[in-house]
Amino acid sequence: MSKSKTKYLFVTGGVTSSLGKGIISSSIGKLLTARGFSVTIQKLDPYINVDPGTMNPYEHGECFVTDDGAETDLDLGHYERFLNHNTSQANNVTTGKIYQTVIEKERRGDYLGKTVQIIPHITDEIKRRIQILGETQKFDFVITEIGGTVGDIEALPYIEAVRQLKWELSNNALFIHLTFVPFLAAAGELKTKPTQHSVKTLLESGIQPDILVCRTEHPLNYKVKNKVARFCNVNIDSVIESMDASTIYEVPLLMQKEGLDRVILKKLGLKSRKKINMQKWNSFLIALQNPKNEVRIAVVGKYVELPDAYKSISESILHAGAANLCKITVEWIHAEEVNKKNVKKKLSSINGLLVAPGFGDRGIEGKIIAINYVRKNNIPFLGICLGMQSAVIEFSRNVLKLKDANSTEMNQNTSNPVIDLMHTQKNITEKGGTMRLGAYKCKILKDSKSMKAYKKANISERHRHRFEYNNLFKDQLEKAGMIATGINIKNNLVEIIEIPQHPWFVGVQFHPEYKSTVDKPHPLFCKFIEASLIHKNT
Ligand code: GLN
Repeated sequence: MSKSKTKYLFVTGGVTSSLGKGIISSSIGKLLTARGFSVTIQKLDPYINVDPGTMNPYEHGECFVTDDGAETDLDLGHYERFLNHNTSQANNVTTGKIYQTVIEKERRGDYLGKTVQIIPHITDEIKRRIQILGETQKFDFVITEIGGTVGDIEALPYIEAVRQLKWELSNNALFIHLTFVPFLAAAGELKTKPTQHSVKTLLESGIQPDILVCRTEHPLNYKVKNKVARFCNVNIDSVIESMDASTIYEVPLLMQKEGLDRVILKKLGLKSRKKINMQKWNSFLIALQNPKNEVRIAVVGKYVELPDAYKSISESILHAGAANLCKITVEWIHAEEVNKKNVKKKLSSINGLLVAPGFGDRGIEGKIIAINYVRKNNIPFLGICLGMQSAVIEFSRNVLKLKDANSTEMNQNTSNPVIDLMHTQKNITEKGGTMRLGAYKCKILKDSKSMKAYKKANISERHRHRFEYNNLFKDQLEKAGMIATGINIKNNLVEIIEIPQHPWFVGVQFHPEYKSTVDKPHPLFCKFIEASLIHKNT
């Protein structure tokens, strides 16, 4: 038996996908943190890609990037936003990573003489990855969310691995199963059968859930809870109702009300380290739900029909809205649909423009036209990564009059490559994990808008790109009024550009959206919203 002091919570999902395992895991993490425990959350993804970095957002939504440069599942964004704690490579495990490690070991001869099999070799590697966080970083709790739905073929090795782990960890582990209790309008009833079936599927794999979190659109009365408890072998206080909430940020409070954190502690024989403190969270929620003002922000990108593609951006906007006591109406505008004829119609009523990150040339001209409009009309602008690069292209074309100015990502033969492939990228041919990834330091110029936002000169932000601002054009751009206000001192890469003559025009090569949390809304987003509010009121 393991002597681990770390407690492991395994979160599985049944009945259907999209029940919100990530939000439930984050909410449990938040409540335990508020009770004085150290908590981290990990996601196990059953797909064979090594990471989601090579996947299209249509497949997988946003790719979230950690400080240590891991390209990960967007749920890690929720974990960070709820817990205000950095995740790392170890927080996202995929089948691709598991197999890669096992096959490398096999080639090295580590299993010499043996047949390498799913059990025990793949399951052992899964178990090792689950325990790394508890063992190396000594968390009180490691919450492990298992992607997919129980019964999926891909998830079987994970389910088997956690079954074994529970046996080894004994009282130091719990299974929390998230299911769905649908309301059948014709019968006028909540139906528990799908929950019974998904628990049965778990039982077939040797797992008895300790707690059931039941997602529902209607309150679960005593009778329904009792039925679920009886058929699924759990105590009635372990049947937790999870009603649809008006915002994901309400879920921790709903779970607290249902007693999910208390039942977890009770089952593990633990006492709360301190009286639960959700004061800051509550103030955030009150600010979010009681705005005093309203602004309209346009986000121009090429995946706007898919809300998950820009998850961290929309959450950062929301955090900054609450910080400014301001309701934000986001107008998602498809970059391919913006042209010179319609740009005024599309943007004249907005108070701020955010141009999103992206790859490839689809929609790039629409982004440039939108930026041209807000630059000329003094509308606040925040450009992120490709959004910043587009701002440099726009300024070069229309102010420096370099008509074919472009990024070599879009046109390799441009005579004015104002954005060009980074030197370090020139000989790279493999696509997976080879971008400039993770946190890099940046020094901010005095008196800039960025300095006013961050209130400090030295910052660190996360990156995910191959192309960069071309320093050969820096003198020209600065003389004409676009200033490089943030620089990576080590390699001289331009990280931030601004137009001081404009009320608020900031482009950043990095991704500030990965660092905005409920506890610490991101300063650039906050100032961008503040500037948009000023724009509205003048
Ligand atoms: N495609 C651009 C690059 O690779 C921008 C990337 C991004 O927006 N994340 O540099």
